[in-house]
Amino acid sequence: MTPPLWFDPSLMLIGGRGVAAADTLTLINPSDSSALAHIANGQRADIDAAVSAAHDARAGAWGRMSATERGRILTEIGRRVLERVETLATLEALDVGKPLTQARADAVALARYMEFYGGAADKVMGDTIPYLDGYTVYTLREPHGVTGHIVPWNYPMQIIGRSVGAALAMGNACVLKPAEEACLTALAFAHIAAEAGLPDGALNVVPGLGAEAGAALAAHPGVQHISFTGSVRTGALVQQAAGANVVPVTLELGGKSPQLVFDDADLEAALPFLVNAGIQNAGQTCSASSRILVQRGIYDSVRARMRNAYQDLTVGPALSDLRVGPLISTRQKEIVEGFLNQGADLTVAAQGRLQDAPESGAYVLPTLFADVPEDHVLAQDEIFGPVQVLIPFDTEEDALRIANGTDYGLVASVWTRDGARQMRLAKALRAGQVFINNYGAGGGVELPFGGVGKSGHGREKGFEALYGFSTLKTVAAHHG
Ligand code: NAD
Repeated sequence: MTPPLWFDPSLMLIGGRGVAAADTLTLINPSDSSALAHIANGQRADIDAAVSAAHDARAGAWGRMSATERGRILTEIGRRVLERVETLATLEALDVGKPLTQARADAVALARYMEFYGGAADKVMGDTIPYLDGYTVYTLREPHGVTGHIVPWNYPMQIIGRSVGAALAMGNACVLKPAEEACLTALAFAHIAAEAGLPDGALNVVPGLGAEAGAALAAHPGVQHISFTGSVRTGALVQQAAGANVVPVTLELGGKSPQLVFDDADLEAALPFLVNAGIQNAGQTCSASSRILVQRGIYDSVRARMRNAYQDLTVGPALSDLRVGPLISTRQKEIVEGFLNQGADLTVAAQGRLQDAPESGAYVLPTLFADVPEDHVLAQDEIFGPVQVLIPFDTEEDALRIANGTDYGLVASVWTRDGARQMRLAKALRAGQVFINNYGAGGGVELPFGGVGKSGHGREKGFEALYGFSTLKTVAAHHG
């Protein structure tokens, strides 16, 4: 299918203008490996131009705009995104390979971020601080200036919504480097934002390779904050590059998130979450639940229920809108197959099935492994594919040790009716978000999100993100 584009995807957006790069890259549709579109291969000089345009916007109309007016523009962007949900969802489905239903939900989430941050823009306030006699002291929340946003391919719309939305609400001007594998909705969003009245240069988009455009943005001395979502390896490089300029960084680097299922859990309620949280977006979700820890007394029952649920996991092209689409690329498929090979010594408890999936697509069958030792590579490493491991445990202490026993700490969930246990574990689990008797809570834009350990640092989403995308100035006036 030809992507429903109303703009030229081969042009970068810099200072409100479509600009051609020296050369282009080809986007691939992972459902069948066909060529989808040509996009700009942005270079260091293009990043320079985008940063410069962002500074011009800060010095111009955008920098002078009231918080209320910024909020109105964001709200209007959200309204226009909602009008184009079907178009955006089709672009994301073709580009990322995600089933249409998920892509639609992502487009609605993008609109919701704009509504939330549009409403929040003029509600970020400072404090007055009681101080010595003769002084009046207060704090001002100010934008960093120019913010860089390096975005991965798994949830472009949601990640752009949460980081660019919050940054714009605070009055920053943004340079966005989408992933080279998927950037149609990043460009579409910037066009919609311009149509909604966002001033030129407030949002600039430079597609390109990570090692070139991404590295240039992370190291740019004209950038005052970097928001990065992606792999641990690249996140560490971005932090080093930004560190050379003493620039703050928000890193969101994925996880190995567990669900802890106790003997007294409501299994009917838990089951859809146990499976969906692992296979949504073909497991290419930073907060995917790839580890299912189950208390021994109900282990066989949970295993049997999950096996049944896996039988309904159909896998096929994104536009067929089955439960699972392809992975982002044949490269990612090879990475995931490498992990599956490392599980050759394990028991496969269940697998999904292909349905009219072209051989040329990047498909991997959802796979559930049973009785996996807690230190096995499949129970420790982020796979970023539709692969889950079942791990039995005996006591609450065992469950906690296993849950906290990886380098990551993004999300965790606890299934139990025991209120005291809920509270104990919510405190003891090493994670940025803990869910009790649910997983993900519907992904609410209102809920601060981010990790500890190798899952990263800093928080996005919710009101909290507005603090991350701003800096605090203390004013102490001596008046006698
Ligand atoms: P990546 O971290 O390399 O890419 C993410 C973003 O960073 C992309 O926009 C990329 O162009 C950019 N980038 C790459 N190298 C860069 C550099 N040197 N400087 C600045 N920016 C750079 O991830 P990937 O190679 O696309 O995927 C590899 C693995 O990363 C996956 O298998 C998965 O485990 C993990 N991953 C995690 C997330 C997440 O949401 N946490 C998202 C994507 C990938």
